[in-house]
Amino acid sequence: MPHNHVQPNIDLLKKLPQVEEVLKRPQLVDLAARFPREKLAQSVREAVDAVRQRILAGEEPDESIDAIAARAAQQALALERPSLRRVINATGVIVHTNLGRSPLAPEAVTAVNDVIGGYSTLEYNTDRLERGSRHAHCENLIRALTGAEAAIAVNNNAAAVMMVLSEFAHGAAAIVSRGELVEIGGSFRIPDIMELSGARMVEVGTTNKTHLVDYARAIDPAVSMLLKVHPSNYRMLGFTESVPIGDLRDLADRENASRRAAADGRADVLVYEDQGSGAFARLDAFGTYAEPTVAESLKAGADLVSFSGDKLLGGPQAGIIVGRKVLIDRLKKNPLARALRLDKMTLAALEATLRLYLHPERAQRDVPTLRMLTETAADVDVRARKLLEAVQVAVPEGAAEFSVVDEISRAGGGALPMCDIPTRALRVSFARGNAQQCHEFMVRERAIPVVGRVKDEQVLLDARTLLDDEEIAEVARALGAYFGSLEG
Ligand SMILES: *Cc1c(COP(=O)(O)O)cnc(C)c1O
Repeated sequence: MPHNHVQPNIDLLKKLPQVEEVLKRPQLVDLAARFPREKLAQSVREAVDAVRQRILAGEEPDESIDAIAARAAQQALALERPSLRRVINATGVIVHTNLGRSPLAPEAVTAVNDVIGGYSTLEYNTDRLERGSRHAHCENLIRALTGAEAAIAVNNNAAAVMMVLSEFAHGAAAIVSRGELVEIGGSFRIPDIMELSGARMVEVGTTNKTHLVDYARAIDPAVSMLLKVHPSNYRMLGFTESVPIGDLRDLADRENASRRAAADGRADVLVYEDQGSGAFARLDAFGTYAEPTVAESLKAGADLVSFSGDKLLGGPQAGIIVGRKVLIDRLKKNPLARALRLDKMTLAALEATLRLYLHPERAQRDVPTLRMLTETAADVDVRARKLLEAVQVAVPEGAAEFSVVDEISRAGGGALPMCDIPTRALRVSFARGNAQQCHEFMVRERAIPVVGRVKDEQVLLDARTLLDDEEIAEVARALGAYFGSLEG
């Protein structure tokens, strides 16, 4: 693009007010009691500077002292408002990445509250009265639930993948199918992560089909890993083939037997699966789309499996690695385990969530993600009708038409992308105002934003992801407030 030489308006630049002058304006004098002077001065400097930059870019912004004072006051006040806030998810996307993925079970919330206000056994062993390990809190539960020999949990699954590759494939080669070189989103791409970890990536097969023989041909003395990656939110249909874990296991076993026979000190080839969403419970309701469980991958022969804590598991953000004890022991000693370790809040939430899975029917009932994934449309309909009743009370007659309709929910979080989950939603058709404006109002103007969907000039509020009666009441209040705002 050609560079445009702009002529800034020098007069405007000269007229820019001094910080001291702006601070004397009433908008800022009023705030002086609530904010340290230096904080206000900084807001003013930033506001003046923003105007200066626009003038330099050739614009003619409102450079009046009152406009600048108002902007600085707004900026200072914004510091006092929480930025990370609760929202109501009426989108029907259950593991909604933008809205914090999985809501925690009440038991997990209680567990977090119990440990954060005071001291805890984070790294203290109460049997021996000596230093303990933070890895101990969840390991036995994960072992019991997956059948794994050992486990470790880190900050998230991206961190888990990074750590496994760094420990076992750094300076070596890892074979991965071209059909599994995926981008998960948020700049997590398998080829990039492999490069960062110091592993050489050996791509095999084609985009749509990879056979066992492709892996077999690519095995050479430098290979230390067969990597299998769950394609997450990406699916290929039709003429496709990938190699199951069991076959990769057989291949690795054959290679390892010949390495041992050669007795040249080369390490074994490992089979590692990045499972992504990580189902603990088999979601039979999803039929053929149901993801394999972590236990199934281990049983099929994976040496290591990693998955997220806050996708299908429904716990806090975490990355869990399970597998053979000798391998997990090495991971525990990797410096990345320290850099990527979990804090006490996450550990408390994870432990409590895992404990619910000891009783599958409790997990189904009390882990919100799991409950929302498995509720039938008829269950959801009960909440949709409650919402309908509540809005009919909150919204003036004639402002809009409400009905409960069939819709589709999504699992989200890259899980079960092919699954249409039948649901029931409240549909709002507008006699006054309009869908876009209403949705913006509910998101921007409410203390608890309500996020739904706009489709065909209508607002859709999926009752599947409304967590309780209180949320239903709040959605009704938000709609009432929108139509109320049209009156004024
Ligand atoms: C989601 C996902 C990741 C990243 O997990 P985070 O917990 O978000 O860090 C990695 N691999 C796969 C296959 C995934 O689906």
